[in-house]
Amino acid sequence: MSAVGRKDPAGMDAEVREKIHLEILKRTGAYHANDHILLPSGQHTTEYIEKTLVTTEPSFIEGLGAVIAKHFAQWPTDVVLSTGPGALILSHCVARAHPSRPVVVYGAKGTSSGRRRVTLPVEFQRLIRPGTKVLLVEDLVSSGTTLTLLINLVERLGGHVVGVGCLWRRTSVELAGRSVFSLVSRDFPTYPAESCPLCKKGVPLNQEFVRRRQTRRPSSVEEPKPAD
Ligand SMILES: [Zn+2]
Repeated sequence: MSAVGRKDPAGMDAEVREKIHLEILKRTGAYHANDHILLPSGQHTTEYIEKTLVTTEPSFIEGLGAVIAKHFAQWPTDVVLSTGPGALILSHCVARAHPSRPVVVYGAKGTSSGRRRVTLPVEFQRLIRPGTKVLLVEDLVSSGTTLTLLINLVERLGGHVVGVGCLWRRTSVELAGRSVFSLVSRDFPTYPAESCPLCKKGVPLNQEFVRRRQTRRPSSVEEPKPAD
């Protein structure tokens, strides 16, 4: 019986809070639950999160950023550092709500010889110096690779990572003994088609997310060619 965990008021609070955060993400259209979804890998799952939609509602993301800021309010912070557009929007909201009034800087993600890398623009380098207290912010943490690179970047510049906050963390992620504060901590079960319990029950398979990737192209425009 799981009643022991449920009697713990702190545990109950965490559960309720996570439900609220999931509901907020659902309202942005980013989070899908109670479905039977085909993933690009061919596996089936019951839940899905579309990373690019997470930050589309300014008031929602401001509220979620404020929860992260409140968690880290007791730690003086000079800089909030992130990388990627979604994490940058969230990090702005965290910095706005943090009592230390930290500045916001961001790295650029890229690859070098097939390996992922994060580069801090030269204009930001004077902001992370020996002793600078840095709060790292991510939107979704799955493998933890980006955060590990950000930690290495801060430490190489002599800065000190005061914490790591994110919207969503897969429960399996560990960051070299560093605790990650996340509003949602959740990993989806995924199943091979042949052993999927939803297929066995005859639940229709939602192929929308895979189809969308295959058939839709991003909208783009370019400036006209110069006339000869
Ligand atoms: Zn299935």
